[in-house]
Amino acid sequence: MMLTQPIGLPDASEIHAEQLVIHADFPLASHHRLVRELESLRITVSQELDLPVSDEIVHLYLFHDTKSYSEYAAVHFPQFPTRRAFFVETDTSLAVFAPWQDRIAEDLRHETTHGYVHAVVPNIPLWLDEGLAEFFEVPRVTGGLHAEHLANLTGRLLEGTWQPDLERLERTKNAGDLTQDHYAEAWAWSYLMLRTTPERRTALEDFLRDLRKDAHTPPLSLRLSRINPSSHKDLVEHLQNLNIHSEK
Ligand SMILES: [Zn+2]
Repeated sequence: MMLTQPIGLPDASEIHAEQLVIHADFPLASHHRLVRELESLRITVSQELDLPVSDEIVHLYLFHDTKSYSEYAAVHFPQFPTRRAFFVETDTSLAVFAPWQDRIAEDLRHETTHGYVHAVVPNIPLWLDEGLAEFFEVPRVTGGLHAEHLANLTGRLLEGTWQPDLERLERTKNAGDLTQDHYAEAWAWSYLMLRTTPERRTALEDFLRDLRKDAHTPPLSLRLSRINPSSHKDLVEHLQNLNIHSEK
């Protein structure tokens, strides 16, 4: 009787890139443009969020195709929602799993952001964790502007089928419950804080800094409403303005 071996971790090539150790089940060049990009993302994340850089290793496990990735994930992480790629934090390690496919650059920027952020803010709320990963997953030249989410949210606003609600987002604690709307809204709040006023940026940076010391620090919804009680209205207007300019 033939027994099929369960798929193991990729180990054909191993690349060390600052905080990253990249394991692939195919030959991957250490000077690959994506490797260099992920390396520089470490500094970008740290500067944008005013966070220290960490030396805690983030492991990236890359599979040559979606089939082997899915088989690995089904055996080792059956409880995880099915995603194109994913990030896992355990007591002992930070790890990303992804197959090499068309959107690999975007997926690795997203998942590696989780790694860099978790290395210094392990108790970041789920929604913000995803909002920041969406912010940093787009190519750097876009400055965090996620065209797909912007088009989606402004379309929904026009239809009258969506309104932002940061408190609602903060109550979402389960990764499996996250829909595209949650990802899009989480990106929108992240973008608002990082790309509009110094007060909002400071609110985000202070929140992350406080969170590193105290997991029960007041939430961002409260901090943003102290700056301006109409932050939901501001977000809607900002998205509509961005959309007008991006359509030109
Ligand atoms: Zn994510």
